[in-house]
Amino acid sequence: MGAGPAALCITSELVQQGLNVQAIASRSPLEPWPNTYGIWASELESLNMQELLKYRWKDTVSFFGDGLNKKGNACTNHYLDYGLFNLNDFQEALLDRCNGLSWQIETVEKIDFSEKQTVVICSSGKKYLARLVIDASGHTTPFIKRPQNDEIAKQAAYGVVGKFSSPPVEKNRFVLMDFRPDHLDANQLREPPSFLYAMDLGDGSYFVEETSLACAPPVSFEALKTRLNARLSSKGIQVEEIIHEEHCLFPMNLPLPHRDQPLLAFGGSASMVHPASGYMVGSLLRRAPSLAREIAKVIKKDPFLPTSKIARRGWQNLWTTELVQRHRLYQFGLQRLMSFDESLLRSFFNTFFKLPKKDWYGYLTNTLPLPRLFIVMLKLFSIAPLKVRLGMLGLTKKKKEKT
Ligand SMILES: Cc1cc2nc3c(=O)[nH]c(=O)nc-3n(C[C@H](O)[C@H](O)[C@H](O)COP(=O)(O)OP(=O)(O)OC[C@H]3O[C@@H](n4cnc5c(N)ncnc54)[C@H](O)[C@@H]3O)c2cc1C
Repeated sequence: MGAGPAALCITSELVQQGLNVQAIASRSPLEPWPNTYGIWASELESLNMQELLKYRWKDTVSFFGDGLNKKGNACTNHYLDYGLFNLNDFQEALLDRCNGLSWQIETVEKIDFSEKQTVVICSSGKKYLARLVIDASGHTTPFIKRPQNDEIAKQAAYGVVGKFSSPPVEKNRFVLMDFRPDHLDANQLREPPSFLYAMDLGDGSYFVEETSLACAPPVSFEALKTRLNARLSSKGIQVEEIIHEEHCLFPMNLPLPHRDQPLLAFGGSASMVHPASGYMVGSLLRRAPSLAREIAKVIKKDPFLPTSKIARRGWQNLWTTELVQRHRLYQFGLQRLMSFDESLLRSFFNTFFKLPKKDWYGYLTNTLPLPRLFIVMLKLFSIAPLKVRLGMLGLTKKKKEKT
C-alpha cells in the first residue's frame, strides 16, 4: 500500500525476489513526489546510487554561534558532501526494478485479517487478497497499531525555492543548520528554536527553509514563515520570485508499531524516521533488501504459513532488538533536545559536530552498532560544556515560553 519512497523501495525489492506482488495507492507512482529529499552523498555511495543526485555540495557548513560578532558568525565545516535527489530519476530507478508492475489506483479503507489471508477493501468497494500486506502509506496511517503517545513531536518547516535580491547563502554552499538568532527579539528567543536549512541551487536560485527540529505541538507554518522573512530581511535580503513553496510536517517520535500485528509496515508508517534528524530515505534503501529477502524466504518455504507468522518474521527483520534499542536511545536524545532553549541547543550542536566525522555521521544516519552508539553518546557527554551536560541529564529547566 502506497507509492511514496517507502512503497517503491520495498515493492522493487519484493519483485526482485520473484514474489507475486500487487500494489495499491491513492496516487499513481508516476506522479511526482511532493517533497524534496536530501541525503549525505556517502549514504548513496555506499549503495552505489550516487548518480541519483541532482545537486551535490562539497561546501557543507552549519552556524551555531550567536551571530553578533565575528566569532558568533563562525561556521562549522562538515567536510562531507550533501545532495538532493533527482526525484524523477529516483522514482524511475525504483520503478524500473518493479519490472513493469502496475499500481491499482485505489484508496484502502479497511483491512480484514484471517489466518490464511488478508483482505484489503478499497473505497471503490473492490477487494484484494494477499498472504501478506505491507502498509507503506505514510506517517498518518490508521491501520498500524502502536502505543498511544499524546505528545507527538513534529518536525515543521516552511521553505521557498526562489530568487532573492542578494544571495541568502554563499555560492556553491549548502547550510545544514544556521542557528544564528541575532534577528530574533527577546520574546522570540523564548519561543521554540528554529534554524535555516539552505542551499545554492545554481542559476541564481536558492532553497531556504526555516525548520523546527521537533516540537509538540509543532511550530506553525505562519510562525516559520515570519521567522524566515525576519531572518532574510535582517540581512537586507528580499524574496524576488517564489518558484516553489515547501510545507513540511511529519512526526519525529511516533512510537514503534506493535510487532505482533498481522499487518506489516515500511517507511513512515513503520516509524522509520530517524528521531534525531528526521531523515529516512537512506534507511529505506538500506533496510528494504533484507526485509524483502526475509519475506521471500518465509513465504517460499511454507505455502501454508499463517499471515500472522509471516508478518511476525517481517517485523523481527525490520525492527531487530538492536535497532529497537538504538531507536530508544535516539528517542531519549530527542526528548532531551526538545527541552533545550535556543542557546543550549546551539551549544549542543556545536559540541555534537566536534565529534569525529565518522561518529556524528554514524549517529545521524543510524549506521553505528549499538555499543559504538553508546560510546559516541558518552564521548559527546564528556566533551560537552557543563550547561549542555546538565541539559543532557535533564537538570536544566527551559526558560518559560511566552504565550
Ligand atoms: C516536506 C518533507 C520533506 C522531507 N524531507 C526529507 C529529506 O530531505 N530526507 C529524508 O530522508 N526524509 C525527508 N522527509 C521525511 C520522510 O522521508 C518523508 O515523510 C517520506 O515521504 C515518507 O515516505 P513514505 O513513503 O513512508 O510516505 P509518503 O511519502 O507519505 O507516501 C505515502 C503513500 O501512500 C499513499 N496512501 C496514503 N494513504 C493511502 C490509502 N489509504 N490507500 C492507498 N494509498 C495510500 C499515498 O498516496 C502515498 O503514495 C521529509 C518529509 C516531508 C513531509
